[in-house]
Amino acid sequence: MNIHEHQAKELLSSYGVTVPLGAVAFTPAEAGAAAASIMEKTGGHMVIIKAQIHAGGRGKGSFREHPDAGLAGVNVVASGQTSLMGERMTELAEKMLGSTLVTVQTGPSGKVVNRVLLEAAVDIAQELYLAIQLDRRIARPVLLASTEGGVEIEQVAAESPEKLHTEVIDPAVGIRPFQLRRLAGRLGLTGKAASSYVDLARRLVAAAGELDTELLEINPLVINASGEALALDAKLSFEDNALYRHPEIAGLRDESEEEPAETVARKAGLNYVKLDGRIGCMVNGAGLAMATMDTVEHYGGSPANFLDVGGDTDEERVATGFRIITADPNVRGIFVNIFGGIVHCDVIAKGVLAATEQVGLSVPLVVRLEGTNVELGRRIIAESGLGVISATNMAEGARRIVELCR
Ligand code: GDP
Ligand code: MN
Repeated sequence: MNIHEHQAKELLSSYGVTVPLGAVAFTPAEAGAAAASIMEKTGGHMVIIKAQIHAGGRGKGSFREHPDAGLAGVNVVASGQTSLMGERMTELAEKMLGSTLVTVQTGPSGKVVNRVLLEAAVDIAQELYLAIQLDRRIARPVLLASTEGGVEIEQVAAESPEKLHTEVIDPAVGIRPFQLRRLAGRLGLTGKAASSYVDLARRLVAAAGELDTELLEINPLVINASGEALALDAKLSFEDNALYRHPEIAGLRDESEEEPAETVARKAGLNYVKLDGRIGCMVNGAGLAMATMDTVEHYGGSPANFLDVGGDTDEERVATGFRIITADPNVRGIFVNIFGGIVHCDVIAKGVLAATEQVGLSVPLVVRLEGTNVELGRRIIAESGLGVISATNMAEGARRIVELCR
């Protein structure tokens, strides 16, 4: 699960991570008032307005509704007077809120901006990169750092891998002080900047561990003109399976940022990921779901989704899964591949029929059932009069649905 930058910064500051003074706004008037108040509190004359969407690249993004306005997802306003600052920010927020921001990370469809973050501008001396993520190969968290802040890290890794530094975090003891000092040295930091960086990085590692993040990314992490390190941007992705330990984080979810079908699926306890192929797949068990996708690909098809209805599913959940698949306009055919271990095949069959009765069936449907009560399940499907094609094994089922979708 992802959260917004302003939420990430609030969470991180409770770990003592330094972030710019800021406030979130949902309306133009709130944005204007927040900007004026930031200016009064800091005595500075520059304030930043940042679109809050679950995607990066905002600094170089543009708004569909305002193509020539020179308006990006991150904008700076300078003014000597708080009243003028308030007016300018109200105007800017008016344009940004409700408009569609397109960045390299949103894809061409972009994302609608529903909130903005107002922040005191920082006088940047140096932009760095820091991330904490899991290295699945060594099964440990790692700290990644680079001098190339503000640049996409994939680009740094591809073009100048020598500028990417890694420290492995021991899950039992955490990161050790010498590792952070070594990292600061490799980044060329000295004096106050080095000690401030070490302190910030230590707090970020602690936050990532306690919050169960899959990814914590600070890009850029900046050193300001007086040598202090601070998080200028913040991205946090949480491990979904650990969210039960963090009810306060689960409450930060913004459903308007998620694929609507994925929200429906999550609430029904289904594990669904939308893909861009043509064959809808409904499977029980993540391993079987992946094998099914591979088999469909093997016969020349492309899966429209990953859908694991779970090992102990019921009729209602199967019906919900089926409705989600049929609602996807890209779907040209459906392949149901179920191994009835804990769940019984007749329950699956009834769920499929209940859903087809409700939503109708306008595309070919191949069903392969195996396991407990398989005979009963197959009979229910065969006697349904829906023209469902039965397959006796996975390869045959995949081959049939690919042929039928051609
Ligand atoms: P992203 O493009 O979505 O990753 O958004 P960021 O929060 O990283 O902002 C993009 C860029 O805007 C940063 O890399 C900075 O160069 C610039 N920026 C953001 N905040 C400030 C600020 O307070 N002062 C200055 N000078 N630049 C800023
Ligand atoms: Mn950034």
